Amino acid sequence: MYLSIFRDKKVLIGCFIGAEAETRLKTNLRVAYAFSGACLDFDDFEFDPIDSLEADAERAAYDSLAALKHVRKRANGERTVVRVNGVEIGGDRFVVMAGPCAVESERQVMQAAEAVARAGARVLRGGGFKPRTSPYAFQGLGLEGLKLLRKAGDAFGLPVVSEAMTDGQVELVAEYVDIIQVGTRSMENAALLAALGRCPRPVLLKRGMVASVEELLQAAEALMAHGNPNVILCERGIRTLGKLTRNTCDLVAVPLLHQFTHLPVIVDPSHATGRRSLVPPLARAAVAIGADGLLVEVHPFPKTALSDAAQSLAIPQFERMMQRLAPYFGLWAEERATEQPAATAR
Ligand code: PEP
Ligand code: MN
Repeated sequence: MYLSIFRDKKVLIGCFIGAEAETRLKTNLRVAYAFSGACLDFDDFEFDPIDSLEADAERAAYDSLAALKHVRKRANGERTVVRVNGVEIGGDRFVVMAGPCAVESERQVMQAAEAVARAGARVLRGGGFKPRTSPYAFQGLGLEGLKLLRKAGDAFGLPVVSEAMTDGQVELVAEYVDIIQVGTRSMENAALLAALGRCPRPVLLKRGMVASVEELLQAAEALMAHGNPNVILCERGIRTLGKLTRNTCDLVAVPLLHQFTHLPVIVDPSHATGRRSLVPPLARAAVAIGADGLLVEVHPFPKTALSDAAQSLAIPQFERMMQRLAPYFGLWAEERATEQPAATAR
């Protein structure tokens, strides 16, 4: 039998399979075509009248994605490049952002900044306002932390990224940092997204720990619809089963997102795993799968870190990771050169 997918094309599918398998195959084909660059105009997409709830749910999912006019991939395939102080995220060089989970002292953040810059990181991370699960855990140095982060970034020529937890913090954080992070716990904070949408700083939007790829895209759409074109998406792991890792990294979300959106996508292997031994292998996989960058926690003395000690790399571990990633960065660049040209956010 034939399955009609586009108006002018037909695809032959199995003649010798049972009805259930056939329905499943049709479903898979719809998914593949819906997300392929060839079918970005959702009007071109025809659904067979498969009489099942599953098909209805799929249809609804496609319809909701098709409505995301700001984040959806452009017809000419151009990707967005977010530019901050000479660093391009989503361009033709892989970008490593690294630094401590939280800024703890001037000495700590200076040591971290010096080390990560020397090892090849191009953006310094560090939390001032820390959204902690426990109200008794270290909550960050707040404004003092942002000032120290700025000082360290300036000292070593690195733009800095740090989190704003509320809409009321946006203006203050924007004064000190180059990229504002939306943490996993805040991805659905509509007031925060609206305030950041109006803010002139680029936003690093982390996927909610129980959010689907579609919901991450909806949050990005909210930022863009409020006026901010400079959005970087971040896969940082989602909640699944087991306690051996802190989260489960949905690595395939990276190419899936790239198929649907023009925005850059980075991976945070620190929060995705919660274990420093797993950070380098996951980082390698993130480069191989085509992420635009990494966000990695590095601490001069991880054992005494006030937050996320178990997942923070010591400086020599970060250096080794960067050295071992070097050939992968080369392959990444070769692969990127075969892709569509990138465009500046507008
Ligand atoms: C962080 O980057 O330190 C952080 C709190 O991240 P997440 O929101 O992904 O847990
Ligand atoms: Mn952290």
